[in-house]
Amino acid sequence: MTFEEMGVSPEIQKAIQELGFEKPMPVQEKIIPILLDRNTDIVGLAQTGTGKTAAFGIPIVQQSDVRVKKPQVVILSPTRELCVQISKDLKSYAKYVDGLQILAVYGGASIQPQLAALNDGVQVIVATPGRLLDLIKRKAAKLSSVYRVVLDEADEMLNMGFLDEINEILESIPADRNTLLFSATMPAEIKKIAATYMRNPEEVVIGTRNASAENVKHIVYTVHAKDKYLALKRIADFYPKVYGIVFCRTRIETQEIADKLIQDGYNADSLHGDLSQPVRDSVMQKFRLRNVQLLVATDVAARGLDVNDLTHVIHYSLPDDPEVYTHRSGRTGRIGKAGISIAITHLREKHSIGRIESSINIKFEKARIPTGREICEKQLFNLIDKMENVEIDNTEIDTYLPVIYKKLDWLSKEELIKRFVSLEFNRFLDYYRDADELNEPVEDRKSRRAGRGDDDFGVRGRKMKDFDGKSEQGYTRIFISLGKIDGLVPAALIEHINNNVSGTKVPVGRIDLMSKFSFFEVKSEYAEQVIGSLKGSRFRGNKVDVQRAQGKDAMKSGKSDKGGKSEKGEKSFSKKPDRWSEKPKRRPRR
Ligand code: AMP
Repeated sequence: MTFEEMGVSPEIQKAIQELGFEKPMPVQEKIIPILLDRNTDIVGLAQTGTGKTAAFGIPIVQQSDVRVKKPQVVILSPTRELCVQISKDLKSYAKYVDGLQILAVYGGASIQPQLAALNDGVQVIVATPGRLLDLIKRKAAKLSSVYRVVLDEADEMLNMGFLDEINEILESIPADRNTLLFSATMPAEIKKIAATYMRNPEEVVIGTRNASAENVKHIVYTVHAKDKYLALKRIADFYPKVYGIVFCRTRIETQEIADKLIQDGYNADSLHGDLSQPVRDSVMQKFRLRNVQLLVATDVAARGLDVNDLTHVIHYSLPDDPEVYTHRSGRTGRIGKAGISIAITHLREKHSIGRIESSINIKFEKARIPTGREICEKQLFNLIDKMENVEIDNTEIDTYLPVIYKKLDWLSKEELIKRFVSLEFNRFLDYYRDADELNEPVEDRKSRRAGRGDDDFGVRGRKMKDFDGKSEQGYTRIFISLGKIDGLVPAALIEHINNNVSGTKVPVGRIDLMSKFSFFEVKSEYAEQVIGSLKGSRFRGNKVDVQRAQGKDAMKSGKSDKGGKSEKGEKSFSKKPDRWSEKPKRRPRR
């Protein structure tokens, strides 16, 4: 069905064509013909991103009588932002409709201009409940000619405590009106409003998923609860071009995470209800203009933000309600673009992930938090990409070039590239040099458990500080040039040994993981075979070196008996450059 076939007027068709609406979205196909044909009450179960604003907005624009300078339609929305967005959308559908006045009224802004505009006469009022009630009480908003009321995001209005105001407003609008109620969820209170104020409403369900959800990839990372913030930073670093919202549960958490990110040099800001309206406006504007890359926000505050091309939605805290997850993740992957929805969870939240998966019919991909090395690699290629695509202002730069060429004359092309790249890249190397493994070590625990009862295979229960420098009786200690930074965990090490030593299951004893290299013990009769098999093998793309370790000194300094040097000292057997041995510093500012 086309907009024309649904009976949408030529003026509106022209306007929405300019907005890029080629064909109606499913919610529009269902609702627009009903509203243009008859004044049936409608309960719409629909998320943002489904096109519901146009579904109720187009008939409103088409059916308002511009000759009558009185409010004919009232649209209630939970936040000022959504209010402004709806009125902006309606005004854009009404671009070629002469004389239609659409007014947004909301709290947190001066009431005087709103009083004046109402006095001039408007046909459509888009309002937050509190402010509209205030205007009704001041007799500025006269609703006796209202024939249609829309309750948009009704569940959110209730969450924000607007139930009394909604009831009072509905009481003051003629009972023979047409009522439309849209909500992402249908709690009992909403059903009660529908039962009290609506007449035989028709139910329109636009799936439980956003129209765009097919384009969204859902990823879950599981870390220790205390590492969630570190995980967030790694994710942000792993996606250098990220443009997304980080959802938190409370205002306090939102502010805390945003503050930390800003302090750590990320291009982030916060959006929540404790901020004043002008601050919220300015944050949203900065985010819309992409001057802010990561917006840390509460669900409610993010509601009115109409940004469609997010690369990522990050759930720093998972919502209790799976529908809220849908709402959040529907902000990415819109209008045919691919999007990524990332949940950062800890083990106890496993059931929440399962609940979301089953109730909205999606599947999370379980991913590992990228290692320091993987992030550095990603950043490096991003840098190279940027360098390749940088715009060159020839007229400006040309004057300096001869001197620069002369100064750098002594460097080969390879040296030059190395130096330019290192200039930027060293900062990331510095930061991630001693970065720990963050993933919730599920395998770790399994192997530790195995080690307790099974001396032949597994990690012994001794701690590094308890190590006396002597291998267990009958075991040989081996140095390996892989550490936590390479993503090495005990289970991965054992798996690597099993994959590379053919024909036998090697009894592994104690394992000591360091950040850049590690030690492990194997039953002495297997030592040579293990060293021979692992030497030169590849672990996640890195070439592995192994040596027989040197006893107590080896444990402290990272030496093998073939002369490898200390972890904090100059060189280790890993292929990492010398500079990896510097102390970690703050993450580079962007
Ligand atoms: P909403 O669910 O009302 O927030 O709409 C989500 C987005 O879809 C908005 O950016 C609309 O401009 C856009 N949109 C609505 N209807 C259509 C349509 N028929 N074709 C293309 N885009 C649309």
